Amino acid sequence: MIKNLAVLGSTGSIGVQALEVAELMEFKIEALTANSRTDILEEQIRKFRPRLAAVADEKAAADLKIRVADTSTTVLSGSKGVEECARCGADSVLNSIVGIAGLAPTLAAIETGSSIALANKETLVAGGKIVMDSAAAKGVSILPVDSEHSAIFQSLQGYRGKNQIKRLILTASGGPFFGKTRAELEKVTLAQALKHPNWSMGAKITIDSATMMNKGLELIEAAWLFGIKAENIDILVHRQSIVHSLVEYVDNSVIAQLGVPDMRIPIQYALTYPDRYQSPVKQLDLAEAATLTFERPDYETFSCINLCRRAFEKGGLYPAAVNAANEKANELFREGKIGFLDIPKAVEAAFDLVAPVYDYTLEDVFETDKSIRFATERLFL
Ligand code: NAD
Ligand code: MG
Repeated sequence: MIKNLAVLGSTGSIGVQALEVAELMEFKIEALTANSRTDILEEQIRKFRPRLAAVADEKAAADLKIRVADTSTTVLSGSKGVEECARCGADSVLNSIVGIAGLAPTLAAIETGSSIALANKETLVAGGKIVMDSAAAKGVSILPVDSEHSAIFQSLQGYRGKNQIKRLILTASGGPFFGKTRAELEKVTLAQALKHPNWSMGAKITIDSATMMNKGLELIEAAWLFGIKAENIDILVHRQSIVHSLVEYVDNSVIAQLGVPDMRIPIQYALTYPDRYQSPVKQLDLAEAATLTFERPDYETFSCINLCRRAFEKGGLYPAAVNAANEKANELFREGKIGFLDIPKAVEAAFDLVAPVYDYTLEDVFETDKSIRFATERLFL
């Protein structure tokens, strides 16, 4: 069992819940990082007294340094400071940074030999091969925090065989626009897109859930985490978000993990694996839930899912490209600069903007990310 922990992205939705779990489990906090929210980070520093803290935004870091000058925490700045926190040598580094900014810190933590609790799915989408290869070389485990992947991981416990998994089934809530037609999606607003039916999450992933790009990213994440071909990963819309995902074995037996939709369950499991401890999370009452429904997604209306599948199947830098196009388009939509359906448009356009390179380095991933973001912005301006 781990004793100490670093939380990267500690001021976000997952980060805050991870610290709740850490407090209950009495983990020592070694490092905390944020992008710019120094008010929340200051409170966290005073409460958890980490050895290190970092703020990606240089100005905000300077502000935090003054605010916590009376504490023993060393404040670092910029993306290098965040990476240094990832290298703090904690037993586990929980990465809940949003977007590609999480990739270099994940690799830094792996190099140091810390176990990774991974919420930052963009890390595996853009740099899956590099991350998995370096984790294997270092003998480091990557434990999923994403609820679907935690459900699959939990459903695989006790599996000692080889080639006995038929398929993985990822469940999807369907987001706020499930059942809508493309014509109806044309006019949806930011406020409507931010109203997720079951989960309260950061803004970027909430929009990804509305476009269902989130499920496409998760398909790629699952393929890397579990070493399964994309063609053996299916998706089912399950509006109640109680069955968090399933594994189907060759004998057609299906094992699933269920629970109320509360991220503290997968967060805690990633930090206490293979053990389980009591949790303040609400007990699941299936009689109260009464009905669990499952439907096939509308792949035509929510085209992002199959665009991600296609990118993974093409391989090389395609997943990094669709991730970058989505990150940029998601941001432009949140800024009110483009419409909702411009997001899948941007993701599709990325296929023509990336070089079909299959032997690539980490620098190529970052270069692709940069150039696709630039090209995506130009698509609309
Ligand atoms: P969030 O926006 O609430 O928090 C993001 C965190 O990352 C914040 O602490 C922020 O300060 C930090 N950050 C942002 N940009 C940064 C940068 N450039 N450099 C360093 N730090 C930066 O997001 P969230 O909802 O907590 O999601 C975090 C990650 O977890 C995402 O990858 C998301 O897909 C994944 N995830 C979230 C949930 C959920 O329930 N929120 C569920 C599953 C997976
Ligand atoms: Mg998820």
